[in-house]
Order: sequence, then C-alpha cells, then structure tokens
Amino acid sequence: MSNIENIEINKKLPLGKKFLTANAYGAPVLDCRIKLNTNENPFNLPQKVKTLILTELDKSLESSNRYPDRSHELLREAIADYLQEITQEKISKNQVWAANGSNEILQQILQAFSDPGALAVGFEPSYSMHKILSEVNGYQYIAIPRDKNFLIDQKVAVDYLKSNEPRIVFITTPNNPTGTSTNLRNLEGLIEAAPNAIFIVDEAYGEFSQSRSAISLISKYSNLFVTRTMSKAFAFAGARIGYVTAQSQTIAALTLTRLPYHLSLQSQIMARVALKNYKLLQQQVHEIIQIRNWMSTELTTMGFYIVESDANFLLFGNLLDEKALWRALVDESILVRDVGIKGFLRVSVGTQAESKTFVQTLQDLLNNNLIKFA
Ligand code: PMP
Repeated sequence: MSNIENIEINKKLPLGKKFLTANAYGAPVLDCRIKLNTNENPFNLPQKVKTLILTELDKSLESSNRYPDRSHELLREAIADYLQEITQEKISKNQVWAANGSNEILQQILQAFSDPGALAVGFEPSYSMHKILSEVNGYQYIAIPRDKNFLIDQKVAVDYLKSNEPRIVFITTPNNPTGTSTNLRNLEGLIEAAPNAIFIVDEAYGEFSQSRSAISLISKYSNLFVTRTMSKAFAFAGARIGYVTAQSQTIAALTLTRLPYHLSLQSQIMARVALKNYKLLQQQVHEIIQIRNWMSTELTTMGFYIVESDANFLLFGNLLDEKALWRALVDESILVRDVGIKGFLRVSVGTQAESKTFVQTLQDLLNNNLIKFA
C-alpha cells in the first residue's frame, strides 16, 4: 500500500542537521485481522456516549464559522471535575490544560522550557517519543537504563540527577512498554534530587494502574507536570485529546507555546461529553484489566516470562528470537509490537475474543515447536 511514510525524503533540501539521520516515529501499519500493537482501548465508545456526542456536535455546527474558545474553559472544567472525582485531590480548571493528544502536550511543555543543548533525561526502555520530541526541540537527550526488572534504579537515578542537573526529567508510570509503575515515594526522591528540573510524569495509562497518581504531589511541587490522555481508557484515540495538570502558574507557561485555537470546537465538545460520562468508560477499564490478568496467567502457564503490568498491555518473553515470533503472528494476521527489547514483545489487551485468539495462536505455535525460549 502506498504510504507517505514510505516516500524517501528529498535530502537535497536544507533539512535541519538533526533530521538527516532521523526516522519518523510510528508502529508498522499492517492490515492484520487482530491489531494488538498500539495500546488502544479495544472497545468502541458506549452507544449512550456516541448519541450524546452526535447531538452536541450537531448544535456545534451552528457556530463553526467562529474560532473555538482558545483556552477551552469548559473542557478544562470537565477535566478538573473528572480528576477530582478519581483522585479525591482538589484540582481547579486553571490547573489543567488540554491539546490534541498527550503528544502535543509533551511538545508544548518541551517548547516552553527549551534552550539549545539543555539536558533531558528518561529511564529506558520507555516511550520513544520522549527522546524524539526532546531532540526535535533542541535538547540533548540521555537515556538512563532501568534495572533488570524494568524498574528505575533509584540510587543510579538520584546520583545521576544530582550530578548532572538536567532541565527535563521524564518518568512514565505505568511505563510503556514494560507496564511497570514508579511509586510516589521513589518519585518524590527523584524530584528532590533535581529541584531545578521540570518533571514530566507521563500517566498515559494511569486509569489501568493500581498505584496512586502523581497528581497528589502537584500541590507540593511547582516543577511537576502530570500528563494523561483520553486515547487509552476513554476509547478516544481517534478524537486526539490529551491533557496535563500542574500548579496553575506552571500550567500558564503553556500559553506561551500553544498555537492559537489549537483545539477544535468539535474536539472540545466530544471530550467534554465523554468526560461527563466517565463512569460508563470505567466499566471498559475494569473489563480490560480482567482480560489482562487472564492473558498474563495463560501466558505464564505456557512458560512465557511476563513483566507484571499495571497497564493495558503486557511485555512478554523470554524469547530466543522475538522477531521470528512477531513474523509468525503476522502470518496469522495478529499484529503485536516489537519494541526493540531483546527477547521480548509487547501485546495490547484486546477484546475477549481477540485476546483468546492471540493466546490460542501462541499455544498452537508452541505445540508445533515454533517458539523457542532463551
Ligand atoms: N505517552 C505514552 C506513554 C504513550 O504510550 C502514548 C501513546 N502511545 C502517548 C503518551 C501519546 O498518546 P496520545 O498522543 O494519543 O495522547
């Protein structure tokens, strides 16, 4: 299939130096029957939410000739109400900001604090856009390796932060692609080790987690941003809504870097309706967690090593050849993600039927001696 991402870039154009060796981010786009590679919610929006959205969108077309509310007051209010309900923390609308996906939020934060060559730090393996966005925005990005259980090595991290004084520190919890969480005590230890840094705690998978949200630390630290998304728990990846919460004077920095009217009227309306009906979406989250736990037990019984996950995906190994298994699954029209960790693949939790087919396919491959463990 012809795809703009497969067209070779004209390198005779005066491309910025940092892009000369860069590749565009993105999972391979393959037409598979079962798509378990991008950690979306496998369920569609509940019918009630769809109907309410349609009614509101219909009304919105009456004012589509006008620019939308640039500071999306009503949406920020709806996000603050939702966060207050799920965290029991006091959060006002001025402590919240939204954009087209949490990727755009990350971009706006990085732009607001960028100086050429400033240091950004992440704990890897983690979400690869953190490095890409840092470099695009002129930072020098350093990856600190996680320990063998894919947790942040607290001592290594604290020592590094104290002696290098980075500008930006990324902490993804639950972490993508490992599913592991960082507890609040350790998180505070990191923040205390780099009091002048901007901490971006990426909680894209927060709703699936049993751990307490870093949102409870916001009143204590003015240098803390907690980013979240509606792409996962809210079954809204296509609508593109992400948001961030921090102290109000910290959030205000993002008005420097947002494009005017970045969030369409329709996006604002759809997100507000979904947030007001969050309880309906929470049922899906519970179901996804149950399917995840079932998949984890099944794969463990088959002999796979499963990294304990606090998210809507599992990192599984210990494979002798993860690329061979990825290919074998594609041949069965099942798409999982090769995240570049030797011996491991990542699978998103699907519907019950999709997840059963995935588990059964692994069992068949094992029975036919087509999977080798390291
Ligand atoms: N953060 C993490 C950790 C993610 O895994 C993702 C999506 N894969 C994002 C942020 C971006 O999500 P979105 O832009 O859809 O909100």
